[in-house]
This record gives sequence, structure tokens and C-alpha cells, in this order.
Amino acid sequence: MEPIISDSVRRQTGRRQIYRYIYDSPQPMTAMEIAEGLSFAPVDVADSLAGLAADGMVVQDDTGAYVLEPRGRVAAGLCMLDDRAQLVAIDMRGTELGSRELPVPFSHTPAYYEMIAQCLEEFLDDCGLDRDRLLGLGIAMPAIMDQTEGKLVISPTLELQDVLLEEIYCHFSRYPVFIENTPNASGYAERWANGVQTNAVYLSLDRGVGGAILLGNEHYMGDHGRGGEFGHMRLVPNGRPCLCGRKGCVEAYCSTSRLSDDLGLTLEEFFDRLYGGDEQAAAVWKEYQGHLVDALVSLRTCFDCDIILGGALSPYLEELLPELRWEVGEKTLFSGEDFFLYLDHFGSRSACTGTALRFIDDFLLTY
Ligand SMILES: [Zn+2]
Repeated sequence: MEPIISDSVRRQTGRRQIYRYIYDSPQPMTAMEIAEGLSFAPVDVADSLAGLAADGMVVQDDTGAYVLEPRGRVAAGLCMLDDRAQLVAIDMRGTELGSRELPVPFSHTPAYYEMIAQCLEEFLDDCGLDRDRLLGLGIAMPAIMDQTEGKLVISPTLELQDVLLEEIYCHFSRYPVFIENTPNASGYAERWANGVQTNAVYLSLDRGVGGAILLGNEHYMGDHGRGGEFGHMRLVPNGRPCLCGRKGCVEAYCSTSRLSDDLGLTLEEFFDRLYGGDEQAAAVWKEYQGHLVDALVSLRTCFDCDIILGGALSPYLEELLPELRWEVGEKTLFSGEDFFLYLDHFGSRSACTGTALRFIDDFLLTY
């Protein structure tokens, strides 16, 4: 016996297909073109289009053809780092509608979360966002999460261990909320932006160092959701102490703190000095680059794929990229000719954008 599909389910499925068809089309489409393209009855298409238009998901242009309304739904992203927080709002295309940097040091206290929640509301107001259209709030934090147990396992950067995610969720419960690790969110953003079909490894260079493993269209997380924690691979036996309590980790050498906090500078000031020919900055960078190249050679050797550099450092690396790429190619056992090292698409806001994009992607699948 054929499964029974109710009319409302059939209508919803048809509407979703039509929405996706318009979403994927670079040109405005007439109702007839949509009916022909999807082999739907014109009357059903007209019915779905009326519903989509009433829901604010599509609009008609001057000729009566249908186009996507990018602001039909929106999503927000929040990234909480040790020295600052970031907010981003995006539309259905992933286009940024606004962003904000909050220079507030992290603290795992209700007062901190309430203050951030208040800033979020002000930010959404300033962006002119209709809350009814807000799909949800993605939150990214530099921490290993256990989603099954609903727990933040450890974050050396934020000095947190074994925290129930509910303790954070509850302050943002006005919206659907999802919390994840920053490099995973950045990797997700990269996959979205480039439609990555090939394999790539993402290395996030911020005060904390982390990563993500993108296998084709899949995001490899490991058996326990901890895959890609490149920041705590051993780089120098018995080396510098790391915030995780061990010694010689990649993060101890490749944290942006080595270029900023250690010298009492901001990253911007450091790179102004470096590009201005300052000798001390050049010496510090040379040491940093050496360690970064070692880490990249290990990643290249393990994964044999492209590497994407992200995090707070990435906006400053454009000029240095050819040399980094060359050096990694030289030091890797196999040929460097087919090796590509590139900077992430969303720059220093990639995690914030990526975690918001999850709501957009989910909506596209379930609307
Ligand atoms: Zn470590």
C-alpha cells in the first residue's frame, strides 16, 4: 500500500522545493518558468508562491517575476572570546547585515552573560531586525564541547572546565540557541562560502589555536567531537607552558598573544611595526613564523590537503602568504606544487558567521 501523504505535507514539500528553486536561481523566475522547471501544476505553483510571498520569503520584481527576499529570515551569531565578544547578523544568503565588537573580557558569571544578552538586543535593534524572522542565535566559544552530554568539557583560553551548556543557554533562551567550538564554526563558514567539495584543514590562529577537518562536504569531528584540536598538538618537547597545563603545544607558540600581549601591543600595532620595517617585530615574527610553518608541515603531512588559515591573525597575513606557502612546501616531504594555503573567507568574524549560518542551512532543509 502506498504511504499516505497528507495534503498539507505535500503542499509544504512543494513550497519548500519552489523556495529552494528560487533561492538557487541567479535570475528572477516567472510562475510559469518555475512550474515548467519543477514539472508542477501551475495552479499549485501559484498557490505556493502566494504563501511564500505572504510569509515574506519571496517578492515580485517590476515584471512580476519572483526573486528571493534575503531578509525573509535572518540569523545571529555571537562569539565569546577571552578578551572580547563579537556579534554578527546575516540574511538568508549569508550576507552580513551588521557586526559589532564588544571589548569585554570573558567571565563565566550571570552578570557577564546578561550584559552580552543586553548588547545583543541593542545590536539587533540597530540592525533593524524583525525578531519574528530571527531563526536563532549561534554561539561560538573556544572550547571543546560534548553536545551529547550538553557540556563544555574544557577551554584553556577561557579557563573553564566541565560547565553545563544550560548555564550559558539560559541567558539567551529568548531565541533558539546552539553553542559550538569556534574553529568548527569557522570551518562551517568556509564550507558554506566556498561550497568546499575537496578536503581541507582549517587552522584558527587567535589567542587560542584550534582547527577543523573538512572532508569533502563533511565536517569530521572525531569519535567524541574533539577532532581538529590542533592547538594542543606537541610542537616542542618540554617547551613553553601552555594554558592547557601541558608544555610545548602549538598554541603556546602560535597564539596571537606571542605577537601582541607579550609585547604589550595590539595585533594591529604589531603588524604596523612589522610592515614598517621594525627590527624587533621582524625578529618576533621570524620566530613565530618558524613555529607556524612547523605546525603547518605536520598538518600537511597528516592530511595531504589544502590548509585554510583563519582567526584574528588572518586579516594580516595576505602579504606573508606566498612565503609561508613556499616554506611549508619546501619543508614537507612531498612536493609543494599542489599545495594551497589560503585565508578564510569571513576573516576574523568567521566563527561568528559560521555559527549563525547553521540556522540558515537548517532552515533551507526544513522549511
Ligand atoms: Zn596545550
